[in-house]
Amino acid sequence: MKNMESLINHIKTQGFIFQGSEIYGGLANSWDYGPLGSELKQKVKELWWNYFIRHNHLNVGLDSSILMNTQVWKNSGHLGNFSDPLIDCKKCKSRFRADKLIEDKFPEVNAGKMSNSDIEDYINKNKIVCPKCGGLDYTTIRNFELMFKTNQGVLQDESSVVYLRPETAQGIFINFKNVQRSTRKKIPFGIGQIGKSFRNEITPGNFIFRTREFEQMELEFFFDPKDKTNWFEYWIKEVDFFLSEVLGISKNNYFKREHSKEELAHYSAATTDFEYNFLFGRGELWGVAHRGNFDLTAHQSGSGQDLTYLDPTTNEKIVPHVIEPSVGLERLILAILTESYCEEEVENGTRVVLKLPKKIAPYQIAVLPLQKQQNQAATEIYNDLLKNYDVIYDETGNIGKRYRRQDAIGTPICITYDFDSENDKCVTVRNRDTMEQKRVLISELEDFIKKDLI
Ligand code: ATP
Repeated sequence: MKNMESLINHIKTQGFIFQGSEIYGGLANSWDYGPLGSELKQKVKELWWNYFIRHNHLNVGLDSSILMNTQVWKNSGHLGNFSDPLIDCKKCKSRFRADKLIEDKFPEVNAGKMSNSDIEDYINKNKIVCPKCGGLDYTTIRNFELMFKTNQGVLQDESSVVYLRPETAQGIFINFKNVQRSTRKKIPFGIGQIGKSFRNEITPGNFIFRTREFEQMELEFFFDPKDKTNWFEYWIKEVDFFLSEVLGISKNNYFKREHSKEELAHYSAATTDFEYNFLFGRGELWGVAHRGNFDLTAHQSGSGQDLTYLDPTTNEKIVPHVIEPSVGLERLILAILTESYCEEEVENGTRVVLKLPKKIAPYQIAVLPLQKQQNQAATEIYNDLLKNYDVIYDETGNIGKRYRRQDAIGTPICITYDFDSENDKCVTVRNRDTMEQKRVLISELEDFIKKDLI
């Protein structure tokens, strides 16, 4: 049955994702991506980068440091404010994010913007018991700082404190001037980056949905607020298109949720989240926030540097406004895996198949000699295809089992070299989704594959 357990089990046993630090008993909620998982990650990043940066005339890329001057976090408002409400069950000592306790029980309520005392009242009034032991005896809420703190250099005092970035966005804001000056880009334009972020989450979990170390793919799009184009709507449409058309995620499985006035962060004029129907429930996948000119203004006054943009036509200096579409790579991967995972009844049992979009499948093609005698000829085909495609060679086990293995890891095409191949110069090409098999001339194989992989 398709559920969180069967999906995780499949992903782990097939070698996409391993428990982090496994041989030492693991490190909770840390995950290592195996050969298949790292390939999948790489390809999803590549798709995002191509769509939002490389093939988009509006945007350019950046790769800023994880460690930054502490002033960045002071002025961005993270230091002191980037915290979650922590509550402990006095009976069993379990720890929870207090707002999530409410939202898990009452998904229609947005507790993220409630004050701590309102959260406490709500929990008590609605008798939201401890999910671990069923008790209703909690401590008062404390704010828990989400940024990881460490020291840079040999001194271990306050002056050497640095933080691991909790988002990639601030690296973009502090480089706005550098990028604009060096590229001579005129607004509207965007700067995007992909990189690791770290948050000391109180309740990580749901596999790779919420982890303490994750990768973000963020775009900060700068524009003049007098611009007639509705850039907020523009980027919402782009995200929608990317999810449905580029990644093939069914529109039935994700939703747009606009934040109400009360939910909005103090600097945000509007936010729309794309939420996905994960197998554990609905969760935020991709946020699109209208950040106004909050960040550039804050860094301008904090650094004393001029971060304005000089409009060459009006000669007017403005602080551009910003739209931020931001997605977590691993959450996107979880949505893609959820979407692709299928259990199908076939003649001789159940086959598990990952119907991954062809462009992100770890391997595009598998080459399988029917028997050992055909190894040499099959290897030649494999080596030929390897020049242009991501190909795997598998010679072990019966052919049915080998097909299942490729189905399980999402390989769209299997090519089998068999007894007849030497005479008719053809191979059997099998389609992952339909399981249909066709004889194709080896001399026409590349043309066939090219068309099939589109
Ligand atoms: P949440 O409410 O789930 O904690 P958030 O609103 O704090 O998320 P943002 O700060 O808007 O998240 O981050 C942008 C994106 O980064 C999210 O939409 C999500 O895809 C991803 N993300 C945020 N926190 C995590 C995490 N701990 N693990 C994995 N991905 C994350």
